Amino acid sequence: MDRTADRDLKARALKVIPNGMYGHEAVHALPATFPQFFERAEGAYIWDADGNRYLDFMCAYGPSLLGYRDQRVDAAAAAQAAKGDTMTGPSPVMVDLAEALVSMVTHADWAMFCKNGTDATSMAMVAARAQTGKRIVLLAKGAYHGAAPWCTPNPVGVVAEDRAMLRYYEYNNAESLEAAVRDAGEDLAAIFATPFKHDAFFDQALPDPVYARRARELCDETGAMLVVDDVRAGFRLARDCSWSLVGVQPDLSCWGKAVANGQPLSILLGSDRCRKGAGSIYVTGSYWFAAVPMAASLETLRIIRESDYLEQMIRMGDRLRAGLASAAQRHGFGLRQTGPSQMPIMLFDDDPDLRVGFAWAEEMLQRGVYIHPWHNMFIAACMTEADIDMAVAAADGAFAATRARMAELQPSPVILAMAAAKAAEELQALA
Ligand code: PMP
Repeated sequence: MDRTADRDLKARALKVIPNGMYGHEAVHALPATFPQFFERAEGAYIWDADGNRYLDFMCAYGPSLLGYRDQRVDAAAAAQAAKGDTMTGPSPVMVDLAEALVSMVTHADWAMFCKNGTDATSMAMVAARAQTGKRIVLLAKGAYHGAAPWCTPNPVGVVAEDRAMLRYYEYNNAESLEAAVRDAGEDLAAIFATPFKHDAFFDQALPDPVYARRARELCDETGAMLVVDDVRAGFRLARDCSWSLVGVQPDLSCWGKAVANGQPLSILLGSDRCRKGAGSIYVTGSYWFAAVPMAASLETLRIIRESDYLEQMIRMGDRLRAGLASAAQRHGFGLRQTGPSQMPIMLFDDDPDLRVGFAWAEEMLQRGVYIHPWHNMFIAACMTEADIDMAVAAADGAFAATRARMAELQPSPVILAMAAAKAAEELQALA
């Protein structure tokens, strides 16, 4: 595969963008062959700067729910763009969208709109504190809630005071949650939870209903707000808040990524229990009230309600999982596929430094399939059986090629450095 255009762009970027790229889409911690820049996207596919095509199991890290450039959503966005986007006040579509969300999401009595998932999670924290008059927020250890100083996983540039009011518990562990609530005493503002455990580098875990119900009870007992961070999983597990699947209704839920099928929009939904607090805080942004993403979201929600997009994603996820399981077995690899099949992660047994996972991802890429070696992936509703079968056929070749390279594989220096930094941080926390 020709990658010269990407290589040239990376070299140019290095001069005018710190490290050439930053954040979750930077490819520094991926195999060296992974392209950084993409020229275009359509349906389930992306094309890199050299014109190489890949079946994309990252879906832009979540926003592509129905597929890139979905014609129905794009038409709704274009119709709104012809009228106006960022204006001196919001468009009527803001009210339509809030009504649609409140009618679909059981716990929601109101909606507020913003741009990124981090805006929604930060706003949830502030609204919970405003509502309760309390300060402490409980987070599951290792859970990702965004890139603001209070939650970024890379604490460079962050001061201890930014996190002074945060406490941590073990996800899916009701006793650990109870202990953290006890420690917070009279000062507990909120408990945050992701809908399932989807931390990078680890096997995923579905929520234990005992833990989820206990989180609800503890909030009821203490007056704290229960916050479900549905930014990554929202509308990929249910047509409602993801914890509706375990019968638990939060007070606040955070949404982003898939809600407008790729248009920039994130959402905070809340129940009446937190309406006063949410109404008392000052939150805003120059682009938060733009009408085009809201029109795109309204159409995305219509498709969510009226189509079998969710069942299709599950069918395709199951098909991929079954195909990969038998291919891995044929080639003698222990492949762990965890979490919901429509949000898969694949990690290899006996691969602590990810050298096998990296080689396999490289071999998949070479065969036109973009998979991630340590982050959960996403099935798009537009993926077909033919797409999945192509991926499984590629996997067969990729397993064979990886097997042939086993003796010469080396760990990625970037991953080793990340692991060392993490270990140092944990040691520091113990001291
Ligand atoms: N919460 C969760 C669970 C997420 O997965 C993400 C993004 N990966 C965020 C919050 C932050 O979203 P954003 O990057 O849009 O700020």
